[in-house]
Amino acid sequence: MDSIIQQDKSHCYICEMSECGDHLDKHHIFGGALRDTSEKYGLTVYLHHNKCHIFGEYSAHQNYYIRVKLQEIAQIRAMEVYGWSENDFRKIFGCSYI
Ligand SMILES: [Zn+2]
Ligand SMILES: [Zn+2]
Repeated sequence: MDSIIQQDKSHCYICEMSECGDHLDKHHIFGGALRDTSEKYGLTVYLHHNKCHIFGEYSAHQNYYIRVKLQEIAQIRAMEVYGWSENDFRKIFGCSYI
């Protein structure tokens, strides 16, 4: 499923720059056991592998604030696109992030 959050896959969702030597990875906004569910509903964004996804100080996997902000954005977007209430979202993803 294509991302419902990001149309332009040639730029990083966090820093908005193009690849520039650090390739863009698909990040599943709800990971772990919810990774497949994230994929199914298009709750993914493209991020610079090193700087913005896995290793950087402000990357989605290292920085709690960034991770939670992405979860909030994704939930709001999913509720809009799929017509879910907050409770509908909670039933699928286990909790609410807004
Ligand atoms: Zn980036
Ligand atoms: Zn990731």
